[in-house]
Amino acid sequence: MMPALVHAFLGDITRLPLDAIVNAANPSLLGGGGVDGAIHRAAGPELTAECRLLGGCKTGEAKLTKGYRLPARYVIHTVGPVWRDGRHGEPELLASCYRRSLEVASEHGIRSIAFPGISTGIYDYPVELAAKVAVDAVLSFLVKSDSLEEIVFCCFSAPDLAVYESLLASERS
Ligand code: ADP
Repeated sequence: MMPALVHAFLGDITRLPLDAIVNAANPSLLGGGGVDGAIHRAAGPELTAECRLLGGCKTGEAKLTKGYRLPARYVIHTVGPVWRDGRHGEPELLASCYRRSLEVASEHGIRSIAFPGISTGIYDYPVELAAKVAVDAVLSFLVKSDSLEEIVFCCFSAPDLAVYESLLASERS
């Protein structure tokens, strides 16, 4: 079994032709701002209609829908924690978003997946801390599972990309 390819990428997650992209959703799953709004706009109204049937999503949980007009076949919707001070379970909940998204992905035979920086926008999680949680959670999942072939950390700014690149480089050395 080849080791999974884990890499960081700078760009718009709605453009990625992977098996799945992850949405940093809010608990209603009915769409919002940031990456959530971009995903709903690009996927079309069918996505919002399917989301309406899901009955929301708890923080740290993940639910799957089809991708509709997106190049990605599926969207995995997860709800990150709102950052307060790091002492209200934020790291555990954020790690759970990554782990649960990967579990749902492997249950559905998904082999390639991209994550946005969950919680690092409107939810205000500091990117350096969030990226460390994200990389650790993904690498620990890969130790236990061999169903994923490619995992992309999709960054939306050059500074965010630099944070991920440096974390991944230190993991490799
Ligand atoms: P949250 O509410 O979980 O903080 P946001 O959507 O506000 O979610 O932000 C999460 C991250 O997604 C931020 O780093 C933001 O810059 C990034 N982002 C926003 N739009 C896109 C996009 N189209 N593709 C990839 N990342 C995006």
